[in-house]
Amino acid sequence: MNTIYFDNNATTKVAEEVLDEMNPLFCKLYGNPSSMHTFGGQISHRIRKAREQVAALLGCEPAEIIFTSCGTESDNAAIKGTLAAYPDRRKVITTRVEHPAVLSVCRDLENHGYTVVELSVNKPGRLDLAELEEHLDDDTAIVSIMYANNETGVIFPIDKIVEMVTDKDVVFHTDAVQAVGKIPLNLSKSNIDLLSLSGHKLHGPKGIGVLYVKKGTRLAPFMQGGHQEAGRRAGTENVPGIVGLGKACELVGQNLEEENNKVKYLRDKLENTILEKCPDSHLNGDNENRLPNTTNISFEFIEGEAILLMLDKFGICASSGSACTSGSLEPSHVLRAMGVPFTAAHGSIRFSLSRYNTEQEVDFTIEKLPPIINRLRELSPFVAK
Ligand code: PLP
Repeated sequence: MNTIYFDNNATTKVAEEVLDEMNPLFCKLYGNPSSMHTFGGQISHRIRKAREQVAALLGCEPAEIIFTSCGTESDNAAIKGTLAAYPDRRKVITTRVEHPAVLSVCRDLENHGYTVVELSVNKPGRLDLAELEEHLDDDTAIVSIMYANNETGVIFPIDKIVEMVTDKDVVFHTDAVQAVGKIPLNLSKSNIDLLSLSGHKLHGPKGIGVLYVKKGTRLAPFMQGGHQEAGRRAGTENVPGIVGLGKACELVGQNLEEENNKVKYLRDKLENTILEKCPDSHLNGDNENRLPNTTNISFEFIEGEAILLMLDKFGICASSGSACTSGSLEPSHVLRAMGVPFTAAHGSIRFSLSRYNTEQEVDFTIEKLPPIINRLRELSPFVAK
C-alpha cells in the first residue's frame, strides 16, 4: 500500500538534494568545526555556507542567524532570553492559539510571577489588534505571536503587529515554524526582532532549528557552555543538520511561487470536494489569510480519531484537532479558542500538503473519505436515525 502523506505540518520528507548534501558529513567529514586541525576546521566553511543560505531565504544578514536544535528551543530561547535581558519588565503578551512551545513557556512564567496576557481570536481565528494595543505597556518585555497557525494555517497580520509593538519599544518575537518554506518572508523590510524556524517543516532534517536575532536586539544566551555560534548558543554544532537546513532553504527559495500554486490548487480541490460531498462539514479558519497547504475541516457528530483510523487503512495520513492527553480526549485548544463547539472540534481533521503531493493522491482521498464519513455517521449515537 502506498502512503499518501497529508501531514506536512507535523513533519516533512527530507528532500533528496538535502540528504545528498548531508551524507558526507556523517562518516567522511565528521570533524568538529571548532578543532584546530584541518580535518575539523574544514567543516566550518560548510556552516558558513548554510548560514548564508538561511539568511538569503529570510532576507537578513548571516550574522543574525543562530542555529538551535529545533523550533521549540528557538521559541524558548527567544522568550526566556529576552526576559533575562530585561529583568525589570515582568509582562509577556502572546495569543491563545500558539504552539505549546510558546504557550507552555508562558504558562510556566505565570507560575514564576510574570504577567502573561493571552490574546483571544474570533471565529475565523483572527486577532483583535485593539486588544493588543490595550495591553502593551512599559512593563511588557516581549510580544510573541506566531506567523501562521499549525492547526488551521491562519496567517496573522505580522507587519501591522510589528509596527504596533516596536512603536512601544517592546521586543517582538514570531514563531514562524509553519510559515518559513510555505510563504515568502523578507526580514530586510521588517522590524521583527526574533523569529523561530524549524528544519523538519521545510523538507530539511529533524533536530535543527534557527533563531533569527535582529542586529542590536538584547538577548541573553539560553544555552551556556562553549563559544559556538559566537557565544550565543553553546553546544557542538549539528553539522549535518545545519548543512541540510541550508540546502532546504536554498530549495525553497528557488521554487516557492511555483510550488505554492501547485500546492494551493491541490489543497483547494481536496477542501472544496470534501465540503461539497460531506454534509455537515465546515472549514475551520480564515479563508483569506491562510497557508496554501493547510485545510482544517470539522465533521459534525463523529470523532476525528475514528476518521483518521479509517483513512489510515487506505494509507492516508492526516491529523486530528484532538490531542490525547492522560487518557482524556481534549479537543484542540486552537479550535476551542476560535469558539468551535466542543463536538465539532472533536470531529476535526487537518490535511497539510507539500510539494511532493500529487493530484492522484487528492483524487484517491476524495473518493475514499465521503463513504468513511457516511459510515461513521451511521454508527454515531449523535445522529438522529
Ligand atoms: N511552533 C509551531 C507553530 C509548530 O508547528 C511546531 C511543531 O509542530 C513547533 C513550534 C515546534 O517545532 P520543533 O518540532 O522543531 O520543536
